[in-house]
Amino acid sequence: MNENKRTTTLRLAVQKSGRLSDASMDLLAACGIKVSRPDRKLRAVADHFDMELLFLRDDDIPGYVEDGVADLGIVGENVLYERERDVKVVQKLGFGRCRLSIAVPNAMPYEGPESLMDAHIATSYPGLLGRYLEERGIRASIHEISGSVEIAPGIGLATAICDLVSSGSTLISNGLQEVEVILRSEAVLFSTATLTAEQEALLAALTFRIKSVLTARKYRYILMNVPNAAIDEVAAILPGMKSPTVMPLAEEGWSSVHSVITDDQFWDIIDQLKAAGAEGMLVTPIEKMVL
Ligand code: ATP
Ligand code: ZN
Repeated sequence: MNENKRTTTLRLAVQKSGRLSDASMDLLAACGIKVSRPDRKLRAVADHFDMELLFLRDDDIPGYVEDGVADLGIVGENVLYERERDVKVVQKLGFGRCRLSIAVPNAMPYEGPESLMDAHIATSYPGLLGRYLEERGIRASIHEISGSVEIAPGIGLATAICDLVSSGSTLISNGLQEVEVILRSEAVLFSTATLTAEQEALLAALTFRIKSVLTARKYRYILMNVPNAAIDEVAAILPGMKSPTVMPLAEEGWSSVHSVITDDQFWDIIDQLKAAGAEGMLVTPIEKMVL
């Protein structure tokens, strides 16, 4: 049997192992797309969805999607936009958040991008960095290195670096300060420039599921017991999308009030809810949400 022969309508390439792998597979699982991958195979067919997965290094994924070897891919925007590609971004996925930043040694005086004039900048992202410098008319030399960029100034290889940052602790421990953010990145789903009608239909089904999962992740379901006399006051505090659901409790004079709030709203309103007389509050995650 030809190993490359397609058996499914869609082929999605995801990172084989690394920072995006688990989150990519978790998102698919939350969308009802489960994949068993015995022996860490490089290819696997999904259960209950007409799609197979290819497990690749993230840097190789944009090229494979552009060439049509895979129809869809998931990578960080930093990888996708490093080179101009004939692909279409379908959807941001809300994980793998980081920024591509320029950092300089703490001791270097820095007054803005013009301080980088004639600098030697080490990076794994020569494309993005080169475009950033060119747009600002800054002449600097770019040293492309594939890893451990943060040590380059310390060993005299460069005067500055341009690298991915999330917490910034790697920069601090290498005596560097972040001075410019050149790209804010997260994982994205993207596709080849042209899909067949059948593939488009399946992709629409996939993105509908992804949106329901991503929306749900932002919200929490909140339930509490409220004396009937306080229901209006509690309803006014709750920032829910619609008016809350109110159901009588078996205990006379009390109701159960249910609503949906965003993850960060709970701590802002908890004291007000308690002061209004709410008791027995429960906050739970929501798995899927269709608005
Ligand atoms: P591969 O073996 O697939 O080439 P890699 O070493 O290039 O893996 P990872 O370190 O697994 O890549 O990072 C994958 C992606 O995770 C990055 O391209 C970026 O989009 C995202 N990411 C999120 N936070 C960070 C971070 N602090 N450092 C590096 N990448 C991050
Ligand atoms: Zn990589």
